[in-house]
This record gives sequence, C-alpha cells and structure tokens, in this order.
Amino acid sequence: MNTFQDLGLQDNLLQAINDLGFTKPSEVQDKAIPILLQEETDLVALAQTGTGKTAAFGFPMLQKINVNSRTTQGLILSPTRELCLQITNELKLYGKYCKGLNVVAIYGGASITEQAKDVKRGAQIIVATPGRMKDMISRRLVDISKIEYSVLDEADEMLNMGFYEDITSILSHTPEDKSTWLFSATMPKEVATIAKNFMYKPQEITVGRKNESTSQVSHEYYLVNARDRYQALKRLADANPDIFSVIFCRTKRDTQKVAERLIEDGYSAGALHGDLSQNQRDLVMKSFRNNQIQMLVATDVAARGIDVDNITHVINYQLPDEIETYTHRSGRTGRAGKTGVSMVIVSKSEVRKIKSIERIIKKQFEKKDIPSGMEICE
Ligand code: ADP
Ligand code: MG
Repeated sequence: MNTFQDLGLQDNLLQAINDLGFTKPSEVQDKAIPILLQEETDLVALAQTGTGKTAAFGFPMLQKINVNSRTTQGLILSPTRELCLQITNELKLYGKYCKGLNVVAIYGGASITEQAKDVKRGAQIIVATPGRMKDMISRRLVDISKIEYSVLDEADEMLNMGFYEDITSILSHTPEDKSTWLFSATMPKEVATIAKNFMYKPQEITVGRKNESTSQVSHEYYLVNARDRYQALKRLADANPDIFSVIFCRTKRDTQKVAERLIEDGYSAGALHGDLSQNQRDLVMKSFRNNQIQMLVATDVAARGIDVDNITHVINYQLPDEIETYTHRSGRTGRAGKTGVSMVIVSKSEVRKIKSIERIIKKQFEKKDIPSGMEICE
C-alpha cells in the first residue's frame, strides 16, 4: 500500500494530511489520486460511504487549481446542503496550507446575494447543490465557463433526488474540455447514462466490495407491535445510555414527531428534515457534531452522506421504502474502522423485508428482544 507521499501529493497538502492525522490513504484515495494527478481524464469511481471520497477528489483538485487566480476552476455538485457544507469544510482543512485558496458553498435556503458576493470575491472552488447552482447560473451570478474540473459527488443520490435535468443544464455551461470526476456508491442506469452522455472515455475504479464484508457494522432487528414502536425506541435508548445515534424515520412528519416526543420525555434529541429552516438545520447539525445531542432523528434525504464520527448506533425507526436505502443508513456508523450497530425496529407486516436486506448487504441480522420489556415484543 502506498503512502500519501507515494501518490504524488505536494508538501503543503502532505502537511495538512499530517495535521489531520491521516496515516495512510484509503483504498479509493490510493486508486484515484494518482490517476487524477497525473492525467487529465474523466473518472468514474464507485465506493461506499465512509471510504474517504472527499479527499480522493479534493486533494487532486487542490493540487491542480491555481490559487493565484480568482477564476472558478473547480465545481463540485453534491445532493444536499449539509453535504455541501461538509465538503467545503473538509476542503478548507485539506487546503489549509494553500495560500489564497477560496472555497465557497452554494445551496438553497440561505441568502443568494451573500453567496453571490462570496463567489465574486474569487472562489477557485464552488461546492453546490444542483438546484441553487442552476438558479445562480440563470441569474448570471456565477461564471463556470472556465471550469477545469467538475465533480459529481454521490451521483446516485443526486439522480435519485431528481436532479438529472439540473445537472445536465449546469454541465452545459461548462467547457467541453474539462475533466469530470463522478463518485457514487452504486451504479444505477441513470448514473451510467450521465457517464455515457457527459464523459469521455472515463477511467473506472471500484472499491468496497471487500470492505463491505469487513465492515464493522453489526445488524440487529427487534420485532414489535407497530403501535409500540416508540416505546421500543425508548427502551433501546435506555439500554444504551452512551448512545450517539441517528434515528431514521420515513417521513418529515414522523421525524418531527419522534424528535418532539423524545425531547418531551427527557431525552437528548433533535430533528433534521427538509421542513426546517436552514438555520435550524445548521444548528441541530452543529449540536449533534459537538455531541450536545445524543440522538439525531432524521429523514433519509436530510441525513444523506452526513459524516459524523463515532456514531454508535443507527436506528431504523421505520424501514425505508427502498431497501437499498438501508445501506446508506447503516453506513452512518462503523466508519473509519470503528464498530457500530444498525438496529431495525420492525413490525410483523414488514419483517420479510429483513431477508431482502440481508441479500443486499450480504450479512445476517441478529434477531433480538427489546431490553427489559418483553410485553411489547411479539
Ligand atoms: P465518503 O465521502 O466516502 O462517505 P468522507 O470523504 O466523508 O467519505 O470520509 C469519511 C471520514 O474519513 C471523514 O471523517 C474523513 O476525514 C476520514 N478520512 C478520509 N480519508 C482518511 C484517511 N486516509 N485516513 C483516515 N481518515 C480518513
Ligand atoms: Mg462523500
């Protein structure tokens, strides 16, 4: 296995890596960084969440852009506001010794004029959600006609969320000879279509099949009466007093309701979903990140890709509609070599879904009883 130095990264980036305490490249970094540094090429990289994709495209982009110029040279599209902020923060850390570097996040729910001002000051890299980006382009508040590198991060998720049109419209404003780097956990038809229509002979790398089986997440399910879901959740929280957890609900309404009930019942919880203002979302994410709240109750969309260290439990308060989404959920825990538990609270009518999930994740669930509350179990 290579060291970061072997990959061809410059000293100012190596120094930041050292500060961050990264000792060796992850597999996707090991494969992608040398290709992206040495060649002007399109790239399709398939890797699960938590494999270090941000650095895999971030370091090459930081090394290749010219920080002495104020022209926007790199554009990163990502599905949610939270992810945009997370990538932006991460790039600032990676580029802390790149003097003059300016990375700007562009996303909905915050002032467009402020964001336009930030861009005008000279952003070499823009990290954006597709909706807001398209808006800014049509109002001529950004110029991406000199982009050299574009990244489609979590491409499968962006397309799932219906951003196909926005993405193609945005890309049509970028130069044809730019490089496009597409990162995705999975390769559904829509992603293949983007690769075919917007990329030129992309190199392909795949990581993670091996990682999946060595992943540190154990999977458990708890069979309860549907009406006892909330009681079950409380028991699970009580049985794990040090829990630091994301709790997934199916709808924004349920998310809000479960969070409110938990708070009323004296638990340390917060809600994250699309009906909250950007300010509220930023606040709850900040408290969660700082461990000020133990349980983040979230929708799949709002929690997409969120990378918070040390999440001990993922709780599926309800199973997702699409069982593939389960992988995204459970990937919130057991990151960077740590162990984690993914729990599913399931009612009789859904229990067969567990088998289908087992086939997808290629792992077995352990059937467990809700701690000290046999009466609510089937
Ligand atoms: P992904 O985008 O694949 O879900 P991220 O880029 O968000 O993954 O990285 C997941 C976590 O791993 C982040 O906290 C990041 O700082 C950390 N990380 C990335 N690369 C390394 C590395 N080489 N060594 C240790 N930690 C790393
Ligand atoms: Mg990511």
